[in-house]
Amino acid sequence: METLYDPAWAESWDAVGLVCGDPTQPVRKILFAVDPVAVVVDEALEYGADLIITHHPLYLRGTTSVAATTFKGRAIHRLIRNDVALYTAHTNADVADPGVSDALARAVGLSGELRPLQPSADDPRRGLGRIGTLTAPVPLREFAGRAASGLPRTAGPLRVAGDPERPVATVAVSGGAGDSLLGAARASGADVFLTADLRHHPASEFVESEGGPALIDASHWATEWPWLADAAERLTSALAARGINVEARVSRIVTDAWTSTTP
Ligand SMILES: [Zn+2]
Repeated sequence: METLYDPAWAESWDAVGLVCGDPTQPVRKILFAVDPVAVVVDEALEYGADLIITHHPLYLRGTTSVAATTFKGRAIHRLIRNDVALYTAHTNADVADPGVSDALARAVGLSGELRPLQPSADDPRRGLGRIGTLTAPVPLREFAGRAASGLPRTAGPLRVAGDPERPVATVAVSGGAGDSLLGAARASGADVFLTADLRHHPASEFVESEGGPALIDASHWATEWPWLADAAERLTSALAARGINVEARVSRIVTDAWTSTTP
C-alpha cells in the first residue's frame, strides 16, 4: 500500500497508515471500505478479514483514550480482540496517479485521458481532482443521469446546479468534499464540476458568477467508493507479481451519513 499510496503524499493534517495491528501478523484476507464504522467491522469479522483498508481515518485528531466507551474505541477493541488490523489511505490516495478521483472519473463516464485538477507542487502528474473530456458533448441533464447510474446508489439523488440543457464536454471531478477545488474547477474551463458536500454559500456564489462550470453534488461515500475496487486490484496484482496471494473484498455496505430522504 505504501508503494502505491506513499504516506508522504498525505496532507499535513491527515492521519494515514496503520491504525491498529501487528506488522508481523500474516494477512490473507483484506476488506476494502470507505469508512471504519461498526457495520464495516461486522463485515470484516463475518468475512474473516485479517486487515481492513479504509479511505477515511478512524482517528483524524489525537486521542488520549481508546476505551470502548465510544464507537471508535469499540471498533479498536473489536479489531484487536479478533486480530484484525486497520490501515488508512486517505489524502495520499486522493493525489495518487491513479487515485480516488481517477476511479470517480471513470465511474461517471470519462474514458479518455485524465489530468489533475489541482496538480501537486512536487509532481504535477499527481494531484487533487481530475479533469477529462467526454467522447461527445451531452446536455448537462444527460451527463447527470449517466453520473447517477455510474455511481453506487445511496439514499439521495445527485443535486445539479446549472441549465439542464447546457452542453457538457469537459468534466472536472473530485472525490469527497470538493469545496476547496471550486476555484480550480472554474479556472480549468470545465463545463461541469462533480464533487460532494457542497454548501449553499460557496455553491450559490459560484453559480451566480458567470462563466464557470455547472455543479453536481453527489454523496460523499458514493464519490469515493469507486476507488476501492481500483485499490484492491492494484494491491492484489502487485502482491501477486511477488508471488503473494491475498484475497480482497470491496465492502458494498453504504456507509454514507445520509440514510433516507423524504418522498
Ligand atoms: Zn472522504
